[in-house]
Amino acid sequence: MSATEILELSATAATAAVASGALSQGELFGAYLARAEGDRAAGGEGLNCFTWVAEHVPGDGSAPLHGLPIAVKDLFCTEGIPSQAGSRILEDYRPPYTATVVSALQSAGVSLLAKTNQDEFAMGSSNENSAFGAVRNPWDRGRVPGGSSGGSAAAVAAGLAPWALGTDTGGSIRQPAALCGIVGLKPTYGAVSRYGMIAFASSLDQAGPLTRDVADAALMLRHMVGQDECDATSLAFPGEIEPPTAERLDGIRIGVAEELASEGIQAGVVEAFEGALTRAEELGAQLQPVSLPHAPHALSAYYVLAPAECSSNLARFDGVRYGSRAADARDLLEMYTRTRHDGFGAEVKRRIMLGTYALSAGYYEAFYGRAQRVRTKISEDFATAFASVDFIVTPTSPTVAFKLGERTGDPLSMYMSDYCTVPMSLAGIPAISIPCGLSEGLPVGLQITGPAFSENRLLDVAHALERALEFDSQRARV
Ligand code: GLN
Repeated sequence: MSATEILELSATAATAAVASGALSQGELFGAYLARAEGDRAAGGEGLNCFTWVAEHVPGDGSAPLHGLPIAVKDLFCTEGIPSQAGSRILEDYRPPYTATVVSALQSAGVSLLAKTNQDEFAMGSSNENSAFGAVRNPWDRGRVPGGSSGGSAAAVAAGLAPWALGTDTGGSIRQPAALCGIVGLKPTYGAVSRYGMIAFASSLDQAGPLTRDVADAALMLRHMVGQDECDATSLAFPGEIEPPTAERLDGIRIGVAEELASEGIQAGVVEAFEGALTRAEELGAQLQPVSLPHAPHALSAYYVLAPAECSSNLARFDGVRYGSRAADARDLLEMYTRTRHDGFGAEVKRRIMLGTYALSAGYYEAFYGRAQRVRTKISEDFATAFASVDFIVTPTSPTVAFKLGERTGDPLSMYMSDYCTVPMSLAGIPAISIPCGLSEGLPVGLQITGPAFSENRLLDVAHALERALEFDSQRARV
């Protein structure tokens, strides 16, 4: 097979090609390694997707995924390999162990191709908060790929990796998937282990696939789910993740979330979204409006809860337990202060300050306690809606990919990028983004969400729609 033919294969097709003997594991890995090295070598001219690339082609294995290369977000611990969470404070940190989901995928046969660039500690929506530089969107290099799993999304969209692993706290898989024209899935909270993921907000963080198509997302998730004794919040997945097969949506009731589908959403995004709704109807789905009355408050609650959890999680980076220690401090306090001053970027510091304030004795009830109550209301809204519909759809991102630098000076406008994705994170329910069309020549994402542990049915619905929408992702290949 020629390199071009290899690069056209989805992860599922590449595995099948290796299994049939049409392609060797070495050829497959080698083709992607050359691409990934090319992006690294291009420096400022490239996409800046990767923070580490494999040094050689690994030997053959016999597990079901046949040595398929995978790109993994920087914040997953990988034994002996830099795992820096996009932060200066963890520069060249090489963990002594590997995150459970990564080792589960490795046991299933994948080989680590690269670590991907990301917003520092997964805080961001544009991948401009990385200590290792911004990532560019392969559809238009003057634009952001979305964040925080921007390196993973851009690498898959550009064909520099067959698939990639990301994490999603408030939208960081779905939003970059939407902005880069690929598929991104955030699983039900607890379906996958968080052990070995460098934590941002533990009650929200989940790992998930970024892939070229829905079948690949199912294939990756199949090898990720499961209870892990190292993560007390993980749960056994009921059954297995199956390859999606649905081609029709007959009898499926799809709710259109009124609060998340019009106000503040770019006209071109609404147009592509409505086009997807028409396709869904043609496939036999019944559409009906649903209300999520508290969803407009999700972002406010999230920006209290996530910083509160981050201020606690990031306390460990003190130059003693973790983090590169500032040199030449005169005493302990100066060492802590300088380590954290030099090691963390501006957005991380902003969140630590916000979170520490929200958790302080006098304000705890007014901020943290109230945000938790809003979170409960949001979960209840979804539960009520799912009594009358099977799934709910929204646009994934209110806008298409924006220009580099456009929102860096205005944190609130950056936070708005996750307006449609944060409610599902607070409710702990699964949600997938699939590309549904173009606006201004840039991809638009459709988000589909369902009740906890509905992944198999969700993947089926996404698969049927993906077939009908026939989105052409070739244009982003570099
Ligand atoms: N953009 C959101 C934030 O900055 C979500 C990030 C994420 O999901 N990791 O917090």
